[in-house]
Amino acid sequence: MNSTEMNDFYINRLKELKIKLTELRINIIKIISRTKHFTINELIDMLKQMDSKVNIMSVYNNIDLLLENHLLYANTFNGKYIIYEAIKPHLIHIKCDECSKIIDVDDKKENTQFMNSFISLGKKFNVEVNHYKIELHGICNECK
Ligand SMILES: [Zn+2]
Ligand SMILES: [Zn+2]
Repeated sequence: MNSTEMNDFYINRLKELKIKLTELRINIIKIISRTKHFTINELIDMLKQMDSKVNIMSVYNNIDLLLENHLLYANTFNGKYIIYEAIKPHLIHIKCDECSKIIDVDDKKENTQFMNSFISLGKKFNVEVNHYKIELHGICNECK
């Protein structure tokens, strides 16, 4: 999905969920759709650039709303900051434990292979798997 498709996906989901599209929500969705990883402070800064009168409490409430409705992922890669990102059916993060670099893997062929393995794994535990999110750890070439 490109950022325009992602934006449309989010707007439609909110409409389906009967969540009112306030100006702040529309701006948050714009940012989610075009930004790979962001912290709450980065989100607030970006919102302030779009609209100088940003209510910080409302931003927090909206993040909670999106998390509750499974429309946002919250990652804690280094245990210190929560890094948010748009939801995806297949998500693999590879993290270098030396430099903390995070790579998002998006490979259609591999995603399908993994999905099939996870669907059969889920079946063993009587769960119908519909998405996955994995974190791999290691040392990158530059840090070796
Ligand atoms: Zn590294
Ligand atoms: Zn990511």
